[in-house]
Order: sequence, then C-alpha cells, then structure tokens
Amino acid sequence: MTITRFAPSPTGRLHVGNIRTALHNWMLARQAGGTFILRIDDTDAARSREDYVEAIRADLTWLGLDCDREERQSARLERYEAAFAALRAAGRIYPCYETAQELDVKRKIALGRGLPPIYDRAALKLTEAERAAQEAAGNAPHWRFLLDHAEPIAWEDGIRGTQKFDAAQLSDPVIRRADGSWLYMMPSAVDDIDMGVTQVLRGEDHVSNTAVQIQIFTALYAADFAAAKPLPAFAHEALLVGREGKLSKRLGSLGCDAFRERGIEPEAIIALLARLGTSRPVEPVADRAALTASFDLSTFGRAPAKFDEEDLERLSAGIVHQLPFEAVAARLPEGMDAAGWHAVRPNLAHIGEAADWWRLVTGPVEQPAFSDEDKAFLAQAAQALAWGDDPWGALTATLKEATGRKGRALFLPLRQALTGMDHGPDMGELLPLIGEAEARARLSRAAA
Ligand code: GLU
Repeated sequence: MTITRFAPSPTGRLHVGNIRTALHNWMLARQAGGTFILRIDDTDAARSREDYVEAIRADLTWLGLDCDREERQSARLERYEAAFAALRAAGRIYPCYETAQELDVKRKIALGRGLPPIYDRAALKLTEAERAAQEAAGNAPHWRFLLDHAEPIAWEDGIRGTQKFDAAQLSDPVIRRADGSWLYMMPSAVDDIDMGVTQVLRGEDHVSNTAVQIQIFTALYAADFAAAKPLPAFAHEALLVGREGKLSKRLGSLGCDAFRERGIEPEAIIALLARLGTSRPVEPVADRAALTASFDLSTFGRAPAKFDEEDLERLSAGIVHQLPFEAVAARLPEGMDAAGWHAVRPNLAHIGEAADWWRLVTGPVEQPAFSDEDKAFLAQAAQALAWGDDPWGALTATLKEATGRKGRALFLPLRQALTGMDHGPDMGELLPLIGEAEARARLSRAAA
C-alpha cells in the first residue's frame, strides 16, 4: 500500500514549488491506488495561520488534488512528547544552554578557521553540576538530537540515486526550543512513522534533513517507540527556477490566485508541473489519468527545472481547445450550449473569452460600411439563404455559382455582415447558432 504525504507549513499561500510537490505526491498515490495525506505542519504556532490552512485546502481543491486524509501536527503534540521521552531515555537527546549569539560566535570562529560550522557538542560535555547551575540560573534548555557518528547514513534516492552522508559532518539538530515548542525535524519523522508513509518525495533542499531523519527513524524504532517497519523510500526533486535559470523571488509568490486571475486552466498547471524537469515532453495533456499513468520518478533529471510562464499560457490554450462542454458549462455565458462551445473553443486562449465570441451569435453586431457592389451581393445572399443541414455550405455554394465570386471576395462580406468581424469561429458552425431569421435580418441590414 502506497502512502504519500504533502506537508505544507501554513505560514503562507502555496506557490508553484509546493504545488509541484503536492502534485507529484498525489500522482504517486493515485498511480498505485494508495493514500494521499495532506499534513498541515503547524507546530510553529506564531507563524501558522488558519486562513492559510483554508487557502491551502481551497487551492488543492481547485487543482483537483483531492486528499484522502488530513492530519495536523498541532493535534499530535502528545505523540511528539512520547517520542521525545523515548529518545531521551535512550540517550539520544541532550539539553543545551547556548544562546543564539553564542552559537553564532562559534559558527563564525569555525568558518574563520576554514572549518565547516558543525555544532561542537559542548553541551554534551557539561557535568551534572554545570547543568544544575544553568537550571538554577533560570536558563531553560533547548534540545538536540544526538547523531550517531558511527552509523553510516545511506539511501537509494528515487531521483538522485545513492546518497551517503557522514553523520560527523552534520550538526546534531535542535529538535525542541527552550519554550517547549517543536522544530520541524522530529515531528515529521514521528508522523511518517505513525501514518505509515511509504514514500517521501520533496524538494532537494531537504536532502540533509533526510540524512538526519533516517537516524531519528532508526533511533525511534530502536527505542521501541513504534513497531519497526522499513523506512520510507526517499526522493528529492531538483528545485524549480525561473526562465533565466535563477531561483526567482517571483516563483516563490506565484500561486493559484494569480493563475486563476489570468484565466489559466488548472489542467495546464498540472500538465506542466507533471512533466517539467523530466525527460518527457511537456504537452497540453488534458487527460489527467494519462499523465498520472506516465508519471515516473526515474524520468526526473537532477538539473533545476525551468518554469516558464509563457509555457503555461500556451499549454492552457491547448487545454481549452480540448475541454468538453460538460467540463466548462458552468463558466460559459448564459445560453451558450454545446454547439456554441464547440464553435468558439478553437478561438480561445482563455475560457473567459467565450463571452466575446458568443456576442457574435446573440448580437447585436456592428457591421462595417460596405461598397455598393458588396451591398448588392449581400442582398442576393439574404434572398439565397436557405435553411438545411449546412446552411453556410449551401449559401456559399449558391452564391459562388450565381456571382462567380470566390475566396475572400465570397466569404469576407458574408462574415462581416453576419458577425461584424473579419475573422472568428468557423462560419459553418456559427451560422446555425445565429439562426435563419436573425441571419437574414443581418444580411438585409448590411445590404441596405
Ligand atoms: N513542512 C515542511 C516543508 O514545507 C515539510 C517537508 C517535508 O515534506 O517533510 O518544507
């Protein structure tokens, strides 16, 4: 059973980067008939906001990324307390008393000596008496997880291949603040254990977190916190960059609201983000099942994926041209039916433009001034108009025969008289929608 999770922190709106992570985890779950969990990482009470939680849900719904379960870290504090107790009893957590400034000085000294700024474990060496003195002075400790330097860290990453870390090259992570609140590192591992997560797919900014979390997983199992299970499969995707190839500020704020406002179809976002950074072509695939079936981590490259907003526009138009009436009916102008949608669809970049074309059918249309010669021709057209299966085909055939006009001279005055425009949807589809009486009235008016 595949279980994946998308774990946003509700400290802001979703942006393209997290939408991509959500989509990929959703696809892994759907592809395997598994479970997709939305996990709200809200241990940071000061920065987490309920309106962001709601916005995250609304954005996922708009994108069609339905989740099977929703979990919240703020509702699981007892479990973190239990994990903390288990790790502490196992000697894998230790109290630290350095202030932020002290740690900063240590970091600067290390860097000044050309050494990596790894925490020196000074707090681990404190004697009982020294600790007691800190407590007596009213200094509450923050807590670090003790990495096991003897335990090699390695995993087969679904995208990056074999990954190896030397624990001695990592700082023991702070997992709990002095005020008792939790940092990201341990609760996430506890959740992945408790929720039976089988695949962790996230951005490559989490690679070193994975190294640490692998030791947290094994330490929790060794401490009998939970029945031991195989660790989840990990995969880390290359980050998204702007078209210029740089990490862009804009991408960090570009989200569903902006897309919706610009009339971008959710399916275009899905089609782009499903394939961007993979060896598969980015195409306007409106069939999500097909996209999901072809989703494959082994096609992901390690180079940053370039996100181009113009690609998105192009894909969105390509998707609009494929959407069936049922999928868009609620967003179409009053009275527009399946035939109307079919007629205007190829001319749209955004569904919102359907109303502009629909006005050609409902009228009134503003006709240009015609030459006398064209007026005579249009008068003839008003007479010749006959209703059948294909009134446009019949009308143009009759007029061609009767007047000898062809090409532009034949079609353009008719189009202008019937729609007021020089270009637009296929007249063969539009004319039946305009209707016989109205079409005749327009032709007569143009001829007058
Ligand atoms: N809340 C974390 C983030 O948004 C989750 C990372 C993870 O997937 O474990 O970066």
